[in-house]
This record gives sequence, structure tokens and C-alpha cells, in this order.
Amino acid sequence: MKVISVDIGGTKIASAVVTLGEDGTCSVEHVGKVPTCAMEGGPVVLERVIAQVRARLDDAGGDEIAGIAISSAGAIDPVTGDVVSANGKMPDWGGIRLGAEVSAATGLPCRVLNDVHAHALGEARRGAGKNRVSSIVVGIGTGVGGAFVDGDRIMLGRHMEAGHIGHVHCAEAAGMPCDCGATGHMECVASGTAITESYIRFGGDATFERDGETVPMDGAEINRRALELGDEHAIAAQQLAGHALGSVVAGVCSMLDPDCVILSGSVINCGHYWHDAVAEGFARTAMEPLRDIPILLASLGDNAPLIGAAEHFMSPAYRELLA
Ligand SMILES: [Zn+2]
Repeated sequence: MKVISVDIGGTKIASAVVTLGEDGTCSVEHVGKVPTCAMEGGPVVLERVIAQVRARLDDAGGDEIAGIAISSAGAIDPVTGDVVSANGKMPDWGGIRLGAEVSAATGLPCRVLNDVHAHALGEARRGAGKNRVSSIVVGIGTGVGGAFVDGDRIMLGRHMEAGHIGHVHCAEAAGMPCDCGATGHMECVASGTAITESYIRFGGDATFERDGETVPMDGAEINRRALELGDEHAIAAQQLAGHALGSVVAGVCSMLDPDCVILSGSVINCGHYWHDAVAEGFARTAMEPLRDIPILLASLGDNAPLIGAAEHFMSPAYRELLA
């Protein structure tokens, strides 16, 4: 089955012709990327999305296209395809009737899923979790998000908020204020942003020289310092983050007992100090029968949300929901 997939983020709109095979294979062709121009407002973004869909339909030539599969930033109602709400980085995106508008413009069925959920569904079904029944997927970048995928179903929850693993309490973050308004959540120490904050708090530099310019400290430089210089503050910041993540993941595994855990996002590019700490945090917190749950690394890269949106489009579970 071929679909046009679109991934709408705050900075770019990616689109492609995606083919999903019955045997678990997939291909992503005719990839296009344009700036979202989010600050120009939701209606402009919608026009840009429809233009990209039309361009990909042209690319597909005479091939039969089953429909349009969308992964979008913001809270999405997967039944109606409406954007329920979006943050300040995408003004007026909330309230856009995304699925209905794209469907009306193209004459094809359109299904929409939140981008974090789409990313997770892609990795779980066609990426690192391929051939496994259930996966906990955790994305660690600026924040920490996640999802639980069981068979072809992704758990969305009553408020479409299921999977917010970054907002689970953990000992390492006790008392720290979280962006969500609560305190002590894992994201406060485990996100990429938090690793940089920890490094500076421990006594590391707040800036560094790159190409003759003074720039703010970042995760890649902290990783370099840990690996190449043995910088104790860099190692400590990565280990704190890894332990917190590993222990919370173990706790969630106790609840759900998945076939695997899949880690994705920029922070997985950290070296062994972080990866070892994740494994240690997991091992010390996991119940004994769960210690062999494999912790895998994501394999689809930027294509994950495009593939996940396509997977969602063809999911029988989703069709039941619509019926
Ligand atoms: Zn929180």
C-alpha cells in the first residue's frame, strides 16, 4: 500500500511517498522538506502542507495512492484529524481541521497522529521494534517523550496524553521544578537540555570556543569532554541523566512488561558513560524477571514519523475506531 506521508514540525514540513509491505518492509521515496513558516500562522501552514501533498502526488505519477498520512506537532484528535491545541511555537495551529481540510483539498482519505506518537509507532512497527509485539519507545532530546505500542495499537489515553514518560517522578530529580509545572520529574535531569544544565551546575563551563567564537555549552561538546578529556563534570552530568532514565524506564517496564525498549532522539548519540548509566539505572530498578528486556536504539532516523503516520493510516485498530 502506498500513501503520501507528511511530518509537520515547528521548523520543517517533511513529506514522502511511503510504501508499506505486508512483510514488515517499507520504503520512503521522493522526500521533500520545506520550512514550516509556523509564525505566519496555522492557515499558512495548512496551505504549505497541502502544496507538499500535491507535489508528492505528482511525484507518485500514476501509482495508486491510498490516502494521506500525517504526523503533526500539537495535541491531535485521531478520530477527527483536528489539531486540538498547539504550543506558542505554532500560533493558530490549534483549531485547524487538518484531516478534513487535506482530505477536501485532495479527495483522498486523510488520517492524522501526533508526531511523538507517529515517531514511536514507526520505530516500534518498522524500525528497531520490527517483529516484536510490544515496545516502550522513549525519545530523549530537548525534552523526554514516549509511547507504548502493543501490536498495531498505540496507547493514546483518555486525554491523548499517554506516554509522557519524562513526567514520571524520579529520585534523581527530587524537588526540581519541571516545565510542566510539577516538580521532581525525570525530564528535569534526563533531557538533553538538562544534561547541559547539570554540567554547568556541577561546575562545568557555561560557554566554549568553537571556530573562534564563544558559544553556549551544548550536549555534543559535553560528550566530547567526557570521552576525550575525562571531564568529571561532563561524566557526572551524563551519568545522572542515564541513571534517572534507566530507573524510570525500569519502573514503566514493571507496569507494562514490553518485548523491548527503544531509545531515540539526539541524546542517544552520547558515548558509553551515558549508555552504561542507562543500563545500570535499569538493572538496579527492574524486577528480576524483567532484567532481560532488551534496550534497543532507534533505527529509522528522520523517516520514523513518516513511516509511523503511514502505519497508523493502515492500522486495522484505527479503522475499527473510525467505524
Ligand atoms: Zn513534568
